[in-house]
Amino acid sequence: MSSQSRSAARAVVYENARLIVGDGSAAIEAGALVVQDGRITAVGRKGDVSVPANAAHVDLSGRTVMPAMIDVHVHIGYEGYTRWGADNYTAQNVLDHLQREAFYGVAATQSVGSSPTDPSIQFQRDQEAGKFPPASRFLFMPGMAPPGGGPDAVLLKGTTALHAVYEVSTPEAARAAVQEMAAKNLKSVKIWVDDRRGTYPKMTPEVYAAIIDEAHRHQMKVHAHATTLPDQKAVVRAGVDVLVHTVQGEKLDDEFLALLREKKPYWTTVIGLGDRTEICDHDPFVDQTLPASVVQAIRATTEPRPLAPNCGPRSPNFAAREETLANNVSKMVSNGARLVLGTDAGIHPGYTFGSADHHEIARWVQFGVSPMEAIVAATSRPADLMGLNDMGSLAPGKRADFIVLNANPLDDIRNSRRIANVYLRGAKLDREALVAKWKKGSKT
Ligand SMILES: [Zn+2]
Repeated sequence: MSSQSRSAARAVVYENARLIVGDGSAAIEAGALVVQDGRITAVGRKGDVSVPANAAHVDLSGRTVMPAMIDVHVHIGYEGYTRWGADNYTAQNVLDHLQREAFYGVAATQSVGSSPTDPSIQFQRDQEAGKFPPASRFLFMPGMAPPGGGPDAVLLKGTTALHAVYEVSTPEAARAAVQEMAAKNLKSVKIWVDDRRGTYPKMTPEVYAAIIDEAHRHQMKVHAHATTLPDQKAVVRAGVDVLVHTVQGEKLDDEFLALLREKKPYWTTVIGLGDRTEICDHDPFVDQTLPASVVQAIRATTEPRPLAPNCGPRSPNFAAREETLANNVSKMVSNGARLVLGTDAGIHPGYTFGSADHHEIARWVQFGVSPMEAIVAATSRPADLMGLNDMGSLAPGKRADFIVLNANPLDDIRNSRRIANVYLRGAKLDREALVAKWKKGSKT
């Protein structure tokens, strides 16, 4: 009998752990978490929770349980260690990336603006039908940009080959494209509002106003990539739901902060892609899912190249970037921007699926966000944003997607890395088997 059918037959109570619910409420010490048929049926202090008489008991004394995370922003399917491109884009590679997210405790992963629509819908159907082994739940949204605009230079090669971005240059074409997405029951769309320092065509305000209006008519959310202060102001004023990236090299001003207080956009920081890769730090947490040859190749690279990892000297603008981030993160959050976890993973193996999520939440805490707020922004808030009503927290009725930790992340957010086990739909993930596969350099 498989572990899944066994868990369907009998309730399991995970007891004596500290439970971090994920909604920002105080942790429950010496808790009990009851799981049946892949769902949480009860949660609370041990003794306050009624447990079915025939339940199996799992003692988690000394451990902390938190909800599995949700990553609202990756670019799935193209990365293949050191080879990157559309020829890697197969259902098998998408699944591999979702297994990496699951390994690191991410229960749902959303690919943003780079996944081809119809194959992605098919993948979702197949995953929901149970055709794949356990992995992070796949979600995606199409992207929209002017012809020749949109994704960064690396990603653009892949999205162009797969026609993954809807190219629009007029409000009418934009509305028609959004209607087409709505007809396929898609819930979100990404836009790029960026001329990449004058090198790209930039979406006009008339076009993105039409996209936002049409999307909202269909109860769809709009994520906007914008990296300058004027562009971030413009898209927030125009009503985007999710702001992606942080302003670089500019101080936020009072006008923008007032807009944040008024509009309260969700905010996906995606800081980590611009950071030095943790592979340089010899951290086994990051290395364990990569073949040794890939780790060695990154450590041996000292020349900086755009959107590729290296372990050379820190970039000359490191200190200035840190100062900007420290300033922006605290100001944006205190003025109402609602943090949600997103990583931009999928561009290179130095900052990749799953480990990147732990990197990003630790960066927030470094800039003054509390560990509890970071956990909310990685669990229940992205679930709310994405309408995943049965995910994102430890509560009755939710999917039993949770991480068992050997240390308390409320004491130190880096304890999110001390993973003992990951459970998805109530079943323990076989993390050792996944590591064995990846250490061989195998993707299947
Ligand atoms: Zn991105």
